[in-house]
Amino acid sequence: PSPLAPAPKLVIDLERLAQLPKDKAGPLARYAATIQSQRGDYNGKVLSIRQEDLRSLAVIYDKSPVELTEEFISWGVLDSEARRAVESF
Ligand code: C2E
Ligand code: C2E
Ligand code: C2E
Repeated sequence: PSPLAPAPKLVIDLERLAQLPKDKAGPLARYAATIQSQRGDYNGKVLSIRQEDLRSLAVIYDKSPVELTEEFISWGVLDSEARRAVESF
């Protein structure tokens, strides 16, 4: 990719997230709720998160960022574009 191209965004699908079982999605749901609260951003259907946040989530889920991205894609909370966002990790 061109160094001038903007990095693809990590965009969490909050409606999908709310449908997932808590045992899987609980940590991600709490993390997203914290960011929404810090921003005062409560009404979105999606939430753009920092690349750094995926690193933190990977520690929480005890996976590599790439593995966690694949898992979130399989749950439907990230779209396949997110793969490109973690290529540089
Ligand atoms: P902060 O990191 O000191 O950022 C202060 C403000 O700078 C943010 O206020 C936002 O208006 C702007 N800002 C910082 N980085 C970005 C960015 O990448 N994109 C955009 N569009 N704006 C940015 P805001 O949104 O009210 O957030 C308040 C505080 O909440 C932030 O203070 C940070 O501590 C936390 N926060 C908000 N969103 C996130 C997030 O996605 N991840 C993390 N880890 N913390 C977040
Ligand atoms: P985008 O980043 O591709 O986002 C497209 C739409 O997804 C946004 O339309 C909004 O409805 C939703 N969206 C994405 N991330 C979030 C999020 O973290 N919270 C919420 N509540 N909604 C989100 P919108 O608001 O009409 O923005 C259109 C475009 O304008 C955005 O496209 C982006 O390119 C730009 N934009 C809007 N707000 C910001 C901002 O705070 N910072 C930057 N850098 N660009 C922004
Ligand atoms: P964005 O607003 O389009 O910002 C894209 C990238 O530009 C960010 O990627 C970050 O590398 C850089 N950037 C933008 N604004 C700031 C800033 O104020 N301080 C610093 N240090 N860097 C900045 P990143 O961090 O991966 O964030 C991805 C997206 O997550 C942002 O896209 C924005 O939609 C959302 N986001 C991240 N942090 C915040 C925040 O604090 N508040 C809000 N409202 N949105 C945030």
